[in-house]
Amino acid sequence: MVINKSAELPDCAPDAGCRNTVQRQKIMDYLMSVQSHPTAEEVYREVSKTLPQVSLATIYRNLNRMAESGQIRRISLHGEYRFDGQVGEHGHLLCTRCGKILDAQQTQVHGAVRDRALRKLPCGFSAKRVSVTIEGTCKDCGKQVKA
Ligand SMILES: [Zn+2]
Ligand SMILES: [Zn+2]
Repeated sequence: MVINKSAELPDCAPDAGCRNTVQRQKIMDYLMSVQSHPTAEEVYREVSKTLPQVSLATIYRNLNRMAESGQIRRISLHGEYRFDGQVGEHGHLLCTRCGKILDAQQTQVHGAVRDRALRKLPCGFSAKRVSVTIEGTCKDCGKQVKA
């Protein structure tokens, strides 16, 4: 399910906030248009095509704010952040060969892990969201191995 969150962005104000709004809109549009879970650098490369004055630092700042406010998801993988426009609960399939991340919608695995995991968490921890990452080899990389 694709929910376009952009309608919830604040109206463009005639001050510095306006620039941020445009930048965030561009970031959001890009993240919603891809399923590649890009890095901040990739978001920067894409957004700077239409907003050449934007800096990587600004993209980082916006991405982090958007992740904190729940507009997007930030995934930490092997010491690197990847960003996801899909905020609905879903798992990820990570190819350890090419670094590709695929979305896994509500799979049985995901449901089973969630049900079991939420019942008994150590240290009085209360769960807000469960994210499952399954590591392995994607279809393309699997083919290469066999060839
Ligand atoms: Zn792969
Ligand atoms: Zn995802």
